[in-house]
Amino acid sequence: MNIQTLINRIKSADAHAQRFLKMFEIRQEGGKFLFIAPGPDYREWLETLVRNFLEEELRGLIEVRERKQERAGGELLNPRYRLENFIVGEGNRLAYRVVLEALERPGELYNPVFVYGSVGTGKTHLLQAVGNEARKRGLRVIYTSAGDFASEMVSYLREGRINEFREKYKRVDMLLIDDVQFLAGKERTQIEFFNIFNTLYLRESQVILASDRHPRELEDVSDRLISRFEGGVLVEIELDEKTKLRIIKEKLKENDIPPREEYVELLMGARNVREIEGKVKLIKLKAPQPRERKRKGTLEKILEFVALYYALSPEELLSDKRTRRVSEAKQIAMYLCRKLSSASLIEIARFFRKKDHTTVIHAIRKVEERKKKDRKFGHLVSFLEKQANAKL
Ligand code: ADP
Ligand code: MG
Repeated sequence: MNIQTLINRIKSADAHAQRFLKMFEIRQEGGKFLFIAPGPDYREWLETLVRNFLEEELRGLIEVRERKQERAGGELLNPRYRLENFIVGEGNRLAYRVVLEALERPGELYNPVFVYGSVGTGKTHLLQAVGNEARKRGLRVIYTSAGDFASEMVSYLREGRINEFREKYKRVDMLLIDDVQFLAGKERTQIEFFNIFNTLYLRESQVILASDRHPRELEDVSDRLISRFEGGVLVEIELDEKTKLRIIKEKLKENDIPPREEYVELLMGARNVREIEGKVKLIKLKAPQPRERKRKGTLEKILEFVALYYALSPEELLSDKRTRRVSEAKQIAMYLCRKLSSASLIEIARFFRKKDHTTVIHAIRKVEERKKKDRKFGHLVSFLEKQANAKL
């Protein structure tokens, strides 16, 4: 079976195949035809077609894979890093724009892009976000760090497969190299990288690099590489105070933590976004938030229970109505909330839409006094307490 016959068979099964197949990389490997899809949609399309429209014997010849399942450098792209969740402000706006432009017109305008800035300023996030987006659009992307690139190169070299290594990197539409400072002192890696870079550059494939320092401050990196880096667009990325505040608020929100002054103040002391994230995790561990929520659930249950007993709606119990039935139910509900939950008087007052907690104190006192005087009422309260408690 030759590949063209196979492709023709696929085309005759689906009118879109002509267009779709262009997005695939097709190779022959061990007697099989490997169809590498640029993403999950294309993979599913071809798998379905193969399953439903091709004869058994042809089916056996085809293997469909997704590009990201192929070994792509040392690290894979993390889907958590997206352009939409990258907060843009003064300190990172330029880097964001340049990188976005490179995504829109890969290899055309800004090549290479060199992003530099201190730790935790979002370089990795930005690179991976662009990588994720580019991959979605069907570009062949490799993301790796200079350190992983170096060890990968060494292992290919040892296995006598250095040509495969070169081919793999020269095939891409977009190469993203993180932590370029780790090229330091690795001469052979620098040579390989230089050659790959030149090929990609001439082919107008996009190269984006990130480093913790300006190219001129890279140690033990060859001059010719540095001049290549400087020949593209250099953008610094920093964390300014205003953006920091926005990131803090966003991270608190993501973690369901109320943006209290004390938290914000504490977090503004962090030196970078990574530190902010670490501290937010700590706050989350210590924050009373989940308990508060549980308490609120408890208060709601007590309210519903008492309302049901008095044949009122929960809303009526929270209203300003002052009929005897409503007043009594309200007092008992507040009393039970105090006894059965860990909510503070203020929290209970707020829950019952009262301006301050003296109302709650007053209600509790009323119930206690009446319990002493009125035995029937006392029994009723104990009964309700037991029943409500069983429902919590
Ligand atoms: P770097 O690579 O510069 O050291 P990272 O990209 O690893 O920094 O960022 C550290 C963490 O902070 C990551 O979890 C990242 O998602 C987050 N982060 C950094 N900058 C931003 C930003 N502008 N908006 C949202 N999250 C950010
Ligand atoms: Mg990084």
